[in-house]
Amino acid sequence: MTRAPLDIAIAGCGVAGLALATLLRQQGARVVVYDRLQTPRPLGSGIIVQPVGLHVLDAIGAGRAVRELGSPIERLYGLSGERIVLDVRYRARGRQAACGLGVHRGALFQALYDAALASGAEIVSGHEIVGASDGRLAFAGGKQSATFDLVVDALGMRSPLSRPPDAPLPFGALWASLDWAGPFDPAALEQRYVAARKMAGVLPIGRLQGEERQQTAFFWSLKHADHAAWRATPLAAWKDEVLALWPATAPLLQQIRSHDDLVFASYAHRTLRAPVSRHCAHVGDSWHCASPQLGQGANMALLDAFALARALETQSNLDAALGEYARTRLWHIRLYQAVSYLFTPAYQSDSAMIAWLRDFLLSPLSRIPPAPQMLAALVAGEWGAPVSAIGLPSPRERTRAGEG
Ligand SMILES: Cc1cc2nc3c(=O)[nH]c(=O)nc-3n(C[C@H](O)[C@H](O)[C@H](O)COP(=O)(O)OP(=O)(O)OC[C@H]3O[C@@H](n4cnc5c(N)ncnc54)[C@H](O)[C@@H]3O)c2cc1C
Repeated sequence: MTRAPLDIAIAGCGVAGLALATLLRQQGARVVVYDRLQTPRPLGSGIIVQPVGLHVLDAIGAGRAVRELGSPIERLYGLSGERIVLDVRYRARGRQAACGLGVHRGALFQALYDAALASGAEIVSGHEIVGASDGRLAFAGGKQSATFDLVVDALGMRSPLSRPPDAPLPFGALWASLDWAGPFDPAALEQRYVAARKMAGVLPIGRLQGEERQQTAFFWSLKHADHAAWRATPLAAWKDEVLALWPATAPLLQQIRSHDDLVFASYAHRTLRAPVSRHCAHVGDSWHCASPQLGQGANMALLDAFALARALETQSNLDAALGEYARTRLWHIRLYQAVSYLFTPAYQSDSAMIAWLRDFLLSPLSRIPPAPQMLAALVAGEWGAPVSAIGLPSPRERTRAGEG
């Protein structure tokens, strides 16, 4: 780091904030992470960490811990009736190509949190952030932080330091982490659809630290506007609807005993034109958020963290570093935000026409080479070559350098 040691405040103790804190500490910066939670903890169920995200976790030193707990995902597979309408295999990119990893958010959070603490980052909980200016954070109740060289906004989709996201997308989803049960493929994200109106999904997510039981994330697409009505309807009626679509989910549904066992997540899109302003940089969802259909949000957050840390290490001053950060991430972000925007209605919308195009045009086309390889690279997060853009050595280069 050329102006070392920098004093950096990170707002938000999520994927991006914890990854960045660790990387900056490894470079010798002084880092304080603020979060509103009294006991920092992850919210939500499970996610797929894509191969590009796993590269970053390896660079941080958290890759092994996450892999030990997660569940390798080789395939994304979806049926509409008897018709296969989604079939993406990571190994279409090559027999040795890296796969995704289904992980419980708790497992990912703990691995990142442990890495941040071990790196010496200071983590301050119980601070609701309401604003930032000239290198200081403002907290609810009127207090302010000390002045830092840089404030990093890692506050996620609803960050008060960023522009509000667009209006919520019509569809969100109900999510639950359940014990693994049923005849599901342990190496696949499986989905069932009725047009694009209904969708159920099962994702293996491995286990939590200190636990033996394997878990699965179960999700059910639901309109924002229908959430209150769903809560007012007896659970049994909803279970009948799910079972009619996918009878094999019976042993999962048995574990859901009340509406409160499912968490409703709503989605919205936003992409800031630039991730930097005076004394402030945005990373992760505070810069760009999208529906999770492509499963890229955490990966992009991890890539942002690496890119910002690297720019701060290699550039001669703060302005140059922030410019370099934006330059190295912009193309990948714009590409994936655009693709997410285009793909989402194919899986969550009322449009019979879009579902028909998905089933009878896109799905057959997706089987003709080189489409399987291209789709696998898209899902792996590799379109736009984000790893080389941010100067992250590939696994092969790391092995050659003796780290692997
Ligand atoms: C249902 C669902 C499924 C998803 N599936 C996937 C997937 O399969 N793969 C994938 O890569 N991504 C997935 N994502 C997206 C992914 O979860 C996000 O992109 C990622 O968590 C963003 O990380 P972040 O660090 O930017 O924000 P977050 O992880 O949201 O962290 C933000 C942190 O800021 C704190 N905070 C927020 N506001 C304040 C405040 N005012 N004051 C103080 N602290 C505050 C929060 O407590 C939190 O700790 C999914 C998202 C959802 C909702």
